[in-house]
Amino acid sequence: MTELTFLGTGNFLAPPGRYWNSFVLDASVLVEPSPIALPHLRRAGFSVDSIEVVVVSHFHADHCFGWPFLLEAAAERKDGRTVHVVGPPGIESHLAELNEAGAVGSVTRLAHVRLDVRYVEVDGTWQVAGPLRFRAVEVVHVPYLRCFGYLFDCGDHVVGYSGDTTPCDGLSELARASDVLVVECNGHHTPPGVPTSHMNEDSIRELQVAYPETRLVLTHLGEQVDLTALSGVAVPDDFDRLTI
Ligand SMILES: [Zn+2]
Ligand SMILES: [Zn+2]
Repeated sequence: MTELTFLGTGNFLAPPGRYWNSFVLDASVLVEPSPIALPHLRRAGFSVDSIEVVVVSHFHADHCFGWPFLLEAAAERKDGRTVHVVGPPGIESHLAELNEAGAVGSVTRLAHVRLDVRYVEVDGTWQVAGPLRFRAVEVVHVPYLRCFGYLFDCGDHVVGYSGDTTPCDGLSELARASDVLVVECNGHHTPPGVPTSHMNEDSIRELQVAYPETRLVLTHLGEQVDLTALSGVAVPDDFDRLTI
């Protein structure tokens, strides 16, 4: 049995009632250190000390600007425990730069003294980080940034996560391999022929038709998403829990 707890379910603009997308897998894995990750972890009843793995899909602010707060809170205990940080190539330097930008660059060094922080760059194979076995699958989001979705091995089932994506081969691979896929539905609509960088109601429906066995759970929702246009998908609110 796997439990997903949604700390936030909104897109970059944090529409009314939904903060920035982030969720916890079984109390020990935090997916996306979004700006509200630390306060919402606590509000959902988790201790920062229970987080053994932090997973980042890409370097957009809504997905990782909560890092300086999380790291500072995690380093409070000074107990030398191991924290794995999984993300795209360059994850360690990107997160260190975030701390510098927030004028808390010393926290990066302090955390290495007080904790055992291990950065794991994704390589597309099945990898292990602490209690988590995962595989990253690259998706197509924006041309200037690499973005990865993930497959999480939860024993007798696989939980997938899309990251931010458009319909692409990577997303198809994730949907095919997942029993449950947490998938973004930013709701961005562009005129025909104009490239998009996100999913919308139409592309979610196409995914449902192509992979009817895969249970879809929507997150990263924009205010403009018409949820009445969709059926057969789960749409959690912030702080909802889903048991698989
Ligand atoms: Zn995003
Ligand atoms: Zn993004």
